[in-house]
Amino acid sequence: MSRTVSNGLVVLFEGIDGIGKSTQLKLAQEQLAQQDWAIRAARNLGGTPIGEALREAMLQPIPRPPLTDLYTSIAIQEALLESIRAERAAGKIVLLDRSPLSLAAYAIFGGGLNLEETWPYVVSGMEQLNAELIILYSGDVAAALERAHQKPGQSDYFESKSIDYFENVDAGYKAAVQHYDVHVINADQSIEAIHAETMSLINQALQSRA
Ligand code: ADP
Repeated sequence: MSRTVSNGLVVLFEGIDGIGKSTQLKLAQEQLAQQDWAIRAARNLGGTPIGEALREAMLQPIPRPPLTDLYTSIAIQEALLESIRAERAAGKIVLLDRSPLSLAAYAIFGGGLNLEETWPYVVSGMEQLNAELIILYSGDVAAALERAHQKPGQSDYFESKSIDYFENVDAGYKAAVQHYDVHVINADQSIEAIHAETMSLINQALQSRA
């Protein structure tokens, strides 16, 4: 039997493309698995069969208004929230690549959607997730994009956007996190140093639930 924690523990990994979220999530997942924790890792934009199918459609370079991206993201998120409720009930540690905060950063600040109309979707998603730990990786935007472009199979819709777009998205994260208890980690460090900071935060969150 794997180790579990009462009502689970949800950890969000946030930041722009190429900043190092999935690298850190994978390292944390490996370390927690070695410690025999029950884990579920997923990406917020996907993470369930229907979510992954909708994600495929979203990543096509098909022109559409920002609201279409917003509603598709919400549809994907809804399916994921349902599955996370079950993971929580099973006491698992849920590691999530991105969160509703990405809605704010990408749709409002990047896509130029109206803040008042969109913000309630962010609040509702964050309330339902009720994450114990939110980590924002933040650092040099140009360097992150350079890395994102070098990843295999990454010439997708988001990564075809300009640097200004991603500067806005990064600013969006910084604005959105003022409303939540977010731990910002400097992403311009070595992978090992960032991993150590990440694990320290996760271990603190686990201890406060013990
Ligand atoms: P994200 O999930 O945020 O899009 P990734 O974790 O996939 O970013 O990282 C993008 C690329 O950058 C990967 O090739 C990864 O190996 C590399 N990378 C991640 N973190 C760092 C770091 N701190 N320093 C240098 N390269 C990194």
